Amino acid sequence: MQLKHKSAIVTGSTSGIGLGIARALAQAGADVMLNGFGNADEIEFTRGALQRECGVKVLYSGADMSRPEQIRAMAEQAAAQFDKVDIIVNNAGIQHVAPIESFPEEKWDAVLAINLSSAFHLIKAVVPGMKARKFGRIINVASAHGLTASPFKAAYVAAKHGMVGLGKTMGIELAPFGITCNTICPGYVKTPLVDKQIADQARAHGISPEHVVRDVLLVHQARKEFVRVEELAALAVFLSSDAAASMTAAAITMDGGWTQH
Ligand code: NAD
Repeated sequence: MQLKHKSAIVTGSTSGIGLGIARALAQAGADVMLNGFGNADEIEFTRGALQRECGVKVLYSGADMSRPEQIRAMAEQAAAQFDKVDIIVNNAGIQHVAPIESFPEEKWDAVLAINLSSAFHLIKAVVPGMKARKFGRIINVASAHGLTASPFKAAYVAAKHGMVGLGKTMGIELAPFGITCNTICPGYVKTPLVDKQIADQARAHGISPEHVVRDVLLVHQARKEFVRVEELAALAVFLSSDAAASMTAAAITMDGGWTQH
């Protein structure tokens, strides 16, 4: 149990990548606070099952990552109930795809708030405790779109590039205090967020979902496979471990080769 006696907050962990990371951290022995939206009964079922299967404390916060005061309250709740917060995973994210002329202002603001500013607010809230204990692991989930661009994703690409910059700054600034900060940049992963894009793009281009996957989404992923949630989760466990003490301020790709073209 690599992460026994550690505790973690994973934002956006009621679904997809965040849930996979939360599960892997719990399996490695960490207490975990889940966060995100969804059906209350399903979330409670997931929380209870994880707690039973892994023998760790699993809590849930419904904090909205676009609301700084709710983010601070979530951090306080975790610190109070776990005694401390050792690991945070800034994972919550949304997407909006539109040409710049018709990109809605409120979507720009929401993508920037949830995909980028939430990380700033959560890091700010937990760092004093991490500094005091001289240990912390901050993991940001950005995207290959933190390193490269695609058309019609102005807000998402801007937010994810911002996340990489925030991660580098935190890695350097917090290194003297035993705190690391790294940013994972995944290629496409088949989660509800991507299922929605497949359906939208198939409609927009008038092509089949299979064509969207092959000719649009995976066109640059040399491996021609979606990245699996479990692969990302294993990376997050490694980054949380003592073995990753010297790894900081890094933007780590797991994208089947996409960004190396
Ligand atoms: P998902 O839609 O399956 O999960 C998103 C999670 O964020 C959910 O738990 C949702 O409830 C939560 N969330 C959304 N808005 C929130 C808010 N305002 N407050 C709190 N929680 C909120 O998506 P996913 O594919 O698992 O994406 C997770 C992260 O990984 C995102 O940051 C995404 O940009 C990034 N990412 C995804 C892919 C991919 O291909 N799926 C690739 C690269 C990066």
